[in-house]
Amino acid sequence: SIAAYLVDPLNMHVTWSDITGLDDVITDLKDTVILPIKKKHLFENSRRLQPPKGVLLYGPPGCGKTLIAKDTAKEAGYRFINLQPSTLTNTWYGESQKLAADIFSLAVKLQPSIIFFLFYFVLLLYFNSDHEAIAMMKAQFMSLWDRLDTDHSCQAIVMGAANRPQDLDSAIMSRMPTRFHINQPALKQREAILKLILKNENVDRHVDLLEVAQETDGFSGSDLKEMCQDVALLCVREYVHSTSEESHDEDEIWPVQQQDLHRAIEK
Ligand code: ATP
Repeated sequence: SIAAYLVDPLNMHVTWSDITGLDDVITDLKDTVILPIKKKHLFENSRRLQPPKGVLLYGPPGCGKTLIAKDTAKEAGYRFINLQPSTLTNTWYGESQKLAADIFSLAVKLQPSIIFFLFYFVLLLYFNSDHEAIAMMKAQFMSLWDRLDTDHSCQAIVMGAANRPQDLDSAIMSRMPTRFHINQPALKQREAILKLILKNENVDRHVDLLEVAQETDGFSGSDLKEMCQDVALLCVREYVHSTSEESHDEDEIWPVQQQDLHRAIEK
């Protein structure tokens, strides 16, 4: 059921402090998207801009788009309907239209809410298909979206994430005029992400995370997280192999060293 994709913001274990290196984007997003939601009364009955109903987060994979979308929902107090591309594409052709209608009616029923779409390859391929049933579903999808857009009393917005906005067709782009570019992390951002990920880990005090950041040019936040997981695994594995089983104690696992990080980067 569609309800399975619903995430209550109160149950989302995310906070802005889980994201680092994206302060400019977050400030911009707070002013453009969250402020009009939280100060709704200042926008009502006025000719001022209405809160945006379509927001696009775009940029390379693993750089924090989903995290930002969840935090936005949490801060705004909006329910979060998280739709993976497979939700639509795995549905039988005939049922797609019903699914699109269900998604939007759920968003309206549960408002204030955010429908979060990952406009990734599979979904785009699907949307661009010539199949008649899909074309009908897409048309219906767009018209339901337009209804959200024009109903100023409805507190439901669509947030999309895409890797390459140029892959989105003009019908989708025109419905998401508020756009935020989430870029691949630069040197200082990578250092900050590493600090955040390793915050509660046992890391040797001589480890130089700036150096690690220098060696991880081109890594996304998600790559850095994966790399740190590899390091943790490496340390535990080496500890287990070099000590006798009866003496195994979590507190005794030695701290992460610079060379452990080097090896994980290589991997
Ligand atoms: P995709 O395009 O592949 O869906 P995404 O841009 O939505 O990726 P997220 O799912 O938000 O990326 O990020 C993946 C993981 O990478 C996060 O759960 C987090 O652990 C880490 N991460 C990415 N960027 C950052 C960041 N700027 N600060 C902290 N952690 C980050």
